[in-house]
Amino acid sequence: MRLVFLGTGTSQGVPVIGCRCAVCTSRDARDNRLRTSAMLEWGGVRLVIDAGPDFRQQMLRTGVRRIDAILLTHEHKDHTGGLDDVRAFNFVDYPTIRRVDVFGTERTLRCVRKDFDYAFDRNKYRGVPEIELRVIDPAHPFRVGGREVVPVRGLHSPRFEVTGYRFGPLAYLTDFKTIAPEEEAKLAGVEVLVVNALRPQPHDSHFSLDEALALIGRVAPRRAYLTHMSHDMGLHALRAESLPEGVFLAYDGLEIYVND
Ligand SMILES: [Zn+2]
Ligand SMILES: [Zn+2]
Ligand SMILES: [Zn+2]
Repeated sequence: MRLVFLGTGTSQGVPVIGCRCAVCTSRDARDNRLRTSAMLEWGGVRLVIDAGPDFRQQMLRTGVRRIDAILLTHEHKDHTGGLDDVRAFNFVDYPTIRRVDVFGTERTLRCVRKDFDYAFDRNKYRGVPEIELRVIDPAHPFRVGGREVVPVRGLHSPRFEVTGYRFGPLAYLTDFKTIAPEEEAKLAGVEVLVVNALRPQPHDSHFSLDEALALIGRVAPRRAYLTHMSHDMGLHALRAESLPEGVFLAYDGLEIYVND
């Protein structure tokens, strides 16, 4: 399987509007981070995890003309704000309209239906995104294009659940702050773990660097990649040097391959 990091930045992206810090003004392309998203090609299935405000630009960068499904981790706008641009994929082979399946928990999809209400009207305006909402029960595995996906539940804040996903040997978690032991057990044996790490300093609703490294230490994957980073993570080149063996900072455009 191939995973492409489409965006690795926190909700504001990096650079942050108006910021003149060393990271936001860096010329290293790895310090430019669009909002967090990734594309997974697994067998014949092509999935995108989250579709934030940079979705259009991210899809243009990949050059792909088809996606089979979008998996949402939660309803925050940095993860859903770009869903309107799904319509480009609907009409690539016009006049055949290809709908895009969007998977998420009931609460997340309820928010999508509210935020993009025009896409679900009875008498739709022609040209609105053609989205098929697929509610998942995060307690049970589900199938996308014949492949089994295991949801992994976490907490973003004390009463706000977020969903990570395990795809065979690879697990992808973002916007986690805590994870219960029984959910962490679902990560056992993964080859690659992708996990959010906002910055070195603690934060109310995202893993800090140390919290992410602690989870990586317990799960012990062969390789781990950090994502959803803020400018407070520091320059990519400097931070990368200080990470334990097998742990990497993801960056936009990074592609990784995992045997499955
Ligand atoms: Zn986020
Ligand atoms: Zn900055
Ligand atoms: Zn969030």
